[in-house]
Order: sequence, then structure tokens, then C-alpha cells
Amino acid sequence: MMRTLLFGLLISLAGITQAQTWHQMLSGAYEDYLEATITNRRFKHRDIEPLIAKTVTHPEFLVKTAGYSVQGRPIYLVRAGHGPHTMLLWSQMHGDESTATMAIMDLFNFLTADDDFNSIRENIFNNLTIYLIPMLNPDGAEQFTRRNAYDIDINRDALRLTSPEARILKQVRDSLQPEYGFNLHDQNRYTSVGLSGKTATISFLAPAFDWDKSVNPVRKRALQLIVSLNGMLQSYLPGQVAKYDDTFEPRAFGDNIQKWGTSTVLIECGGQPGDPEKQIIRKMNFLLFLTAFESIGSGAHLNNDIKDYFDKIPQNARYLHELIIRNGRCQTPYGPAILDIGFAMNERDNAEATQFSRSAYISDLGDLSTYAGYEELNAEGYSILPGQLYIPNDLELRSHQVNENQLMEQGYLWLPLSLKSEFPEVKFMQWTPADSFQSRAIQLGQNPGLILILNGRCVGTVINGTWKKNE
Ligand SMILES: [Zn+2]
Repeated sequence: MMRTLLFGLLISLAGITQAQTWHQMLSGAYEDYLEATITNRRFKHRDIEPLIAKTVTHPEFLVKTAGYSVQGRPIYLVRAGHGPHTMLLWSQMHGDESTATMAIMDLFNFLTADDDFNSIRENIFNNLTIYLIPMLNPDGAEQFTRRNAYDIDINRDALRLTSPEARILKQVRDSLQPEYGFNLHDQNRYTSVGLSGKTATISFLAPAFDWDKSVNPVRKRALQLIVSLNGMLQSYLPGQVAKYDDTFEPRAFGDNIQKWGTSTVLIECGGQPGDPEKQIIRKMNFLLFLTAFESIGSGAHLNNDIKDYFDKIPQNARYLHELIIRNGRCQTPYGPAILDIGFAMNERDNAEATQFSRSAYISDLGDLSTYAGYEELNAEGYSILPGQLYIPNDLELRSHQVNENQLMEQGYLWLPLSLKSEFPEVKFMQWTPADSFQSRAIQLGQNPGLILILNGRCVGTVINGTWKKNE
């Protein structure tokens, strides 16, 4: 909160003392273009169809059906502008990577609006012809899964072209021969900026087109453009931008589209603290698109030194966990040991893949000093016990009371859910269906409830990877 307030203050001070950059002005006005019907990552093809359809009332827009997915959903190709520089953006090739699609809907609202930004729009329409394929994998989006309805990864189908989705992308690329391509994805939220302990909220790649990672004029333009995009992002996400591994993947689209002559930029949306539905990152995508349009229109990035890509943008790494509990004395199945415990989260979707619950698991144990957590707890001097199920005795049942601190010190964390109404005063222990209860150990892959004890007092718990202090 403090950081947010401070950030807001700095921006407003900057506004008094100096003129805002155009991306700061766009950032300030972003809420006006935010597509309000899309509020989380699990929207469907049917949710964006009307948003795509309504762009056609604007004279600079044209929409056509580029083809159909395996399950018969139309895949749209949207054109905006009439300028000499051509670019193609495609999003959600992986069905569960929807951040850029959200931003494209906001972009449509921006481009079709009529307000103080008209001169920016005119510039865009006069300098660029922008082609967009929002949601290349609508069948995957329906289930919120990476792969298409054949269960194949479209991004490993650029050569064989087994899937209709891959054939559409290839055919559109080949027929338009765009100067620039934007390959829009999401990456794991535990991707970090090297060893910095910061999340890689956005990662870039100008994909290699051969095993030697050569730089030809096509790839060079993409590298130069990324230098400009990174420069803009640093004012919003300082230190939270990385670059994706550039090992050549002969079956992937980005690598091949670079090879086929379109300067290609991969954008990967990672995690951001306090942004589970990626709405901050959505806004960053919106700003990235407009920065790219501005740069391609003016050619400003063509003066950039590609060393600023190779030397100044740190490498993607995987040094993050959701929660790290450090230096606790942990009760393992083989006795006590001083361990750091790292938890990560999986998302479990409901049947319609419209909602999800998070399920934690121990993702690492031992010396995690090179890792950072979205949340961290220093448990030096604490004893950490995996929680067991306690069945209340007759006396407790009659008095409707249990001694929570005493039980928790003994390692009991759970009580039978069926007795919940019998014990109205329970504050810290947790309720669970007793017949399906499994005791879980402090071991990799397990999701134990943990009890943290300091000086003979239970000071808090970790339930499903979430630290909770006992008040
Ligand atoms: Zn992806």
C-alpha cells in the first residue's frame, strides 16, 4: 500500500514539474478504454466475439473470418489503419494465456474512440496497417488449457501444420508478409528476473531463427524494438523485465516467423504481486502495443543498440515461490531438521473453466536463500509441525470446548467438520471432513497444514500455502 501511494505521489509531482510523456498520459487515461465486460482471465470466445464485431462500425477497421478452430469456432482477423508499415499480432495461441487478448479488447476501445487522443490515432492509422488475430486457440480458451482440441501445442505445429489454427496463422502470415510480428503469451508466475528476487512480470524475446542464434536485419529490428519497449516498461515495472531463453526451437511459430522474414517479438506475461487476474499486466500490454505502434510508425527504435537487449535485459530464471518459510525447525517424518519450505500454487478449474481454486504444494525444501517468495516468513527459532486431525473426547464434547493452544502445540490442527456447530468458540484450528482426512508430511509435493510454535505458543498456521498469524 505504502509503495502504491508513494508511486502515485511521484507521478503527480512529476506532472507538476514536467510534461508527462505520451505513454504516461495514456496510462492516466487507460480506465476510459478498459473493456469492462472482461474482468478475469477465464473469458471465452463468445465473450470477445461481440467486442470484435463492434469495431467494424469504425471506418479504419475491417474484420474477416480467417478460418475455424478444430471445434468450429471462427478465428477472426482484424485490420486497423491503412499505413505503409504492416504488423501482425496474434494472442492466446495457448488457450490459458489470455492476458494479451484482454489488452487487445482495450486497444479496440482506444482505437475506435473519439477524444483528445485523436492525433495519436490518426498517426497510427496513417503510418501503420495493424492486423490482429485475438485468441488463436478458442477451443483451448473454452477449457482454459494450453493446447488445442487435438491436445497438441500449436506452438510446436509451425512446420507440420496439423491443426487448422496453425494453418490459419501460417496462411495469414504468408499472405500479408508483415514487417513486424507480435507473438503474445503468458509465462509461469514463478519466473524471476535472474537471481534478483523480482518477478519477471514481462519477458521479451526476439526469437532466434537458427541454432547459432544469428542476427540478420530481420531479427535486428525486433531486438531494437524490444530495447524501446523495455525502456518504456521500466518506468512502470522497474527491474521486473527479463528476456526469454533464446534457444532455437525449430517447430515454434516465433522462431519460424522470424525466419520467414517478419521481425518478431515475443511478449510473455508473468506474475505481479497483488495481481492474481493480471489486470495490471493487461494494462502494461496495452501500453506496450501503443509504444510499439509509435516506434514502428516513427522508426525511432532503429537507432537502438542491440547490446542494450543482450547486456541490459536480465535472463529469465525460476527463483520464486509463492511462500517461503525460512529457517524453521521442521518436524519431518525422520525427526526435526532446519529447513526452508517453499510453497507454490496450482489453479484447479471448475467444470466450465470459468472459476478456479488454488491448491498449494511444497515446491522445494532446504536452503532456499537464492530464492524469493511472493510472501516470506522468517521462522528462525520456531518449531514447525505438520497438522494432524484431532477427535474431541466426551468431556470436550459435553463442555463444547477444546484447549486450542495445547492441542496445536501437540501438532493438532484439524477438527472434524461435522462437529463445527458443537464448538462455536474455536478460533485457530481448522475444520475438515474427517472421513477423507489424510495426514500430510513436510515433504516435496505435499500440502500439509503447518503449525508454527514459538516459546511454547502457537503463533500461527500455514493453510493451503497461506500464512495466517494467530491474533
Ligand atoms: Zn504460451
